[in-house]
Amino acid sequence: MSEKIAVIYSDKYLLHETGSHPESPIRVKKAFKLIQESQIAMEDKIIILPPLKASQEDVLKIHSGELLETIRRLSMAGGGLITLDTVISPQSYEVALLAAGGVIKAVQLLLKDDFKKAFALIRPPGHHASFNRAKGFCLLNNIAIAAKNALENGLRRILIFDWDAHHGDGTQEIFYDSPNVLYISIHQDGRTLYPGTGFINEIGRGEGRGFNVNIPLPPQATGRAALQAIRELVKPIIEQFKPELIMVSAGYDGHYADTISDLMFTTDTYYEMARILSSEADKYANGRIIVALEGGYHLKYTPLSILNTIHGLIKEKIAYKDKKMGRQPAIERYVEATIIKIKKILSEYWSF
Ligand SMILES: [Zn+2]
Repeated sequence: MSEKIAVIYSDKYLLHETGSHPESPIRVKKAFKLIQESQIAMEDKIIILPPLKASQEDVLKIHSGELLETIRRLSMAGGGLITLDTVISPQSYEVALLAAGGVIKAVQLLLKDDFKKAFALIRPPGHHASFNRAKGFCLLNNIAIAAKNALENGLRRILIFDWDAHHGDGTQEIFYDSPNVLYISIHQDGRTLYPGTGFINEIGRGEGRGFNVNIPLPPQATGRAALQAIRELVKPIIEQFKPELIMVSAGYDGHYADTISDLMFTTDTYYEMARILSSEADKYANGRIIVALEGGYHLKYTPLSILNTIHGLIKEKIAYKDKKMGRQPAIERYVEATIIKIKKILSEYWSF
């Protein structure tokens, strides 16, 4: 049986202008149109809601005042580059607060029990933004700001699962010492892709040891590898951690048609990952799962992958079936060996 899902969106997300950059307004515009015109929207299973605007106070629990002020000043001054790959336009400061506020809105809807599932169709993305730095197309760390909001509302165990092709170095850094936020990232190996972090021995620090899990995949790995890692590593950890809320940093740049990474996921991969995590949320988190957009730059497959994610979250049948990927014996063996290594490293904290 399927249920309703909140989709958080505003046209104001289009006002963060990036010029000829892959992280363009058209990505979310096209995704929103596809969602609006979908069969499940016609059947009233999707409720579109506007974001909140994050307050300065919300942001300053995660980021430095210096960073927030730099973004504000650069926006006021008409924009510019905050790092070589990360653009600021006149409206970017406001839009960044709305992106973080989009995920806060989702947290609040779920905590009020108005919804169990939410998709925050936001931009700019957030998972590379760290305490003191905006980078990698990200200004503020949206999911971290919202997770902090959930912690302050009394939650004690939050899982952030990050399936963007890039490692979420910002999110990892922010919660590296925390046993309350378990960060698990599956991404293309940092030796072959930005930001060059996310190795298996990065497992957290102090009380946070064991609460940071990285699953690097080699270039060309398909969704089969990701699903295998989820079955063998992520599910057992979820079953022991028992999160009260699952949050997903959902980048779609691991799709085979997305030229920014070398992963070979399909739209089906995102459907399957969403379906599995949604079932885990049903088992342990009172059904609560929030998916927030990160990367994903292909103008056809990112929207389709987002729609498939929504279908997976509410257990509808798949919306768009992609092409089938062939078996890759060498890569599969490599991934299997990586999984064994990760299990060994984490065996002090989790049993497999
Ligand atoms: Zn990415």
